[in-house]
Amino acid sequence: MAGVAIITEACIGVKDRACVDVCPVQCIYEFDVAGNVLVSEQQAGSGVVENSHEANPESIAVFSDTLLYVNADECTSCAACYAPDVCPVGAIYSEDQVPDGGPTSPKYNASDPNVGHDHRFFVQLTRDVFAD
Ligand code: SF4
Ligand code: SF4
Repeated sequence: MAGVAIITEACIGVKDRACVDVCPVQCIYEFDVAGNVLVSEQQAGSGVVENSHEANPESIAVFSDTLLYVNADECTSCAACYAPDVCPVGAIYSEDQVPDGGPTSPKYNASDPNVGHDHRFFVQLTRDVFAD
């Protein structure tokens, strides 16, 4: 079943924007550290901003600009970005298909680095990171 797209830990440090290239509504955002704003581009790498949003300071502080973020309010659940073979590292899922992190996953909880994550972590982060 198609659902809102969620980007997870495998995107960290990869960010090749393959998902951005196939998204028809430009709802996948990068965090611009210098501008302190989440931005989506008309075309991946074009530098031409399509949309922008304020970031929730606490949520964006967890991963900053190391991965991309889907705006769940704008995502149409079209399923293009999580179709097989789009993401080279298997980082993007339908909301109802996000797996739990494996035992070798990095630690995700900024307030308690000894706590790993289950699938709800990135679902919640996706919803929290947009402040407006
Ligand atoms: S499911 Fe469709 S609309 Fe949502 S982020 Fe992926 S490509 Fe964009
Ligand atoms: S295709 Fe995968 S690795 Fe590339 S930016 Fe999107 S989620 Fe990240």
